[in-house]
Parts: sequence; structure tokens; C-alpha cells
Amino acid sequence: MKIRSAEIIRLSIPFTDGSSGVGLMPQQWTHLDVALLKLTTEDGVVGWGDGFAYHCVGATIAALQDMVLPHVVGAEVEDIPAFNHLLQKRLHLHGRYGITIFAISAVDTALWDIAAKQADVPLARLLSDTPRPAIPAYASLVRYGDPAQVAAFTKDVVARGFRTVKLHEIALDCIQAVVAAAGPDVRVTTDVNCNWSLEEAHRMMPEMKRMGLYWVEEPVFPPDDAETLGALQDRYGVAIASGENACTLTEFRRTIPKISFTQPSVTKVGGVSEAVAICDAAAAAGRNVMPHSPYFGPGYWATLQVMAARPNAELFEFFWIQPEAFIDPDIPKPENGMITVPDRPGLGFEPDPAVLARYRVEG
Ligand SMILES: [Mg+2]
Repeated sequence: MKIRSAEIIRLSIPFTDGSSGVGLMPQQWTHLDVALLKLTTEDGVVGWGDGFAYHCVGATIAALQDMVLPHVVGAEVEDIPAFNHLLQKRLHLHGRYGITIFAISAVDTALWDIAAKQADVPLARLLSDTPRPAIPAYASLVRYGDPAQVAAFTKDVVARGFRTVKLHEIALDCIQAVVAAAGPDVRVTTDVNCNWSLEEAHRMMPEMKRMGLYWVEEPVFPPDDAETLGALQDRYGVAIASGENACTLTEFRRTIPKISFTQPSVTKVGGVSEAVAICDAAAAAGRNVMPHSPYFGPGYWATLQVMAARPNAELFEFFWIQPEAFIDPDIPKPENGMITVPDRPGLGFEPDPAVLARYRVEG
């Protein structure tokens, strides 16, 4: 494929989450920022991708414009993983990870969308001869910081058919309230987002074991300290999950052998190419993958397609918030805890022009 043109579309979509504003970040989070990338080939095939943009949408867009797209527009791409590595090599002076690779992720995902459309198959079919038609999903709740509130939201998602619930709670009383509310048939996990000190982790992990948490995510900082994570898992017998803030297979090679669940994020790790490579490396080590995917751009569709193609990708993360609009109104959502993989050619993502026009932000 030869890439004729690239267009970046910046979106800001308001959402509600029912919380009192106790968020994961110091500032309140009220809008989904999206750095949407549209690539068009010389023969007019369109591919969509997005780069991670949570509180960094301007930086991701600048990286696309200034660093990445000059290597993409006009390029002839035959082998997408090889082209991805070429971009990584050419741009490594800007720092291998973070914003640089978020921007490369958008390009890689759009290229795979094009490749699957050219083959006239869903991406999962391009990646596997035996893709799964549907994937189990879990509800990923925001941090409420209030035991009664988080228990009520848990009961709600369980009533809707979810069998696994992920919290972003860090306090023991909130986690205890959920375990009591969820009942014995529901698996509970919590994402600490690195908020515990190592001392706190040593106090909390026995409690997590006692309550039978399915995994504890990023318990301590830094989340790429494979030795510490592995030691916590081994000492307390509770599965540790980490990886949403790591990039490329190179970084994942350190944590995969140490922890039960690895968590590549398509919009952060380097797109579909790196996510597939990470799933395969995890499979070779006998590990399952719990991808990070809590936003609703093309990366959501790409995650589903990769998961459909890789049987060790266990649970899809469905972020339990209510956006004012979805970029593609046909977004597949979990029903009774299962989410159907789109069977349109490519990722299956097709943005609604009216939504793009309404939520577009210039600059
Ligand atoms: Mg997480």
C-alpha cells in the first residue's frame, strides 16, 4: 500500500461517570480526548487509528505531525511490523517510549485497518485462521472513593451480566464493600495505579488474598519494576497485572516472566503489531493477557480484533462511563458480559461524520 495522505482529527467528548469527582488524576476528568488519525492510500482505501491521548492529546498530535507522519505520507508499506520498527528506529532519538510510541501506535493501527480492508476481511481474520466471534468482558469502574457508592455500581454491573468487575479503589473499606456486594460468583480486581507505597502493599496484599481478588493491578511505583511486582505476587499468592504504561515488546519481555497478567494497550504499545507480538510472547511464557482498552476510539476495535485472534487474551476492559456520543455509534458493547467482535472488513470502525463535526476541536 502507498499512503497518499494523512489527516488528524482532534475530538473532545464529554462523559459522566456518576462519581463525585474523586478521579485518578489530580485534575477532574470530564472529557474523552481523542487523537484520531485517518490515513488514505493512493487507491482511496481509508484506515483509522488513534494514539493515546488521556491528558496529552496536544502532545500526541504534535508528535504525529512533526515526527511521525513525515515518514508515513508517500511511504510504500508492504510489511507493517517491519515499517513500525523502521519508524521506531528513525525516531528513537526522541525517546523510545511515551508520546513517540503513542503516535506510532496510531499509524500502525490505521495501516492494519487498511490491510484488512484490502483483503476484505475483519482484522482478526487477517491475524488468525480461527478467530473467536466474541470475547468475555469486564466492567472497569472509575474510582468512587466511597464504599456505598462503589458497592451500588458493582451491584448494577453484576445485574447487567458482568462476571468480573475491576475497581480503581485503593482503600480497604471500598474494596471490602465491593467483595461483599458482588457475591461469590463474581470476580473482583482492583487497579491501584501505583498509589500504594511498598509498605502499604505489604499491608494490603494479605487482605487481597483473603478476599480472593482475581488480580491486583499496578500496586506500586514504578509499574515496570518487574522484580518487585514478581516478589509481591510470589509472597502473597495474588496475581499481579501490569503493562498499561509499558511500550513495545522490548519492555514487556522484563515483566512477562514475573507476573500472571500482562496488559498491552494498543494505543500505547506501538499499535496492533506490538500488541500481537506481546500476546505471542506472553503465550510462549504460559501467561494470559488482560489488555488495557478503556477508551472508545479505533483502539477499542483494534483491541477486540487482536483479542479475537489471540486465545490467551482473556478479558476485554469495558470502561464504565457514559460518553455523550460514540465516534462510531455501532460500537459493540458487552451483553451479559460478552462482546461480539465486529465482522466488517478492517477494524470494523466507521466514524459518524456528525459526531466528528460536533466534537471536533481545532488545533
Ligand atoms: Mg489500569
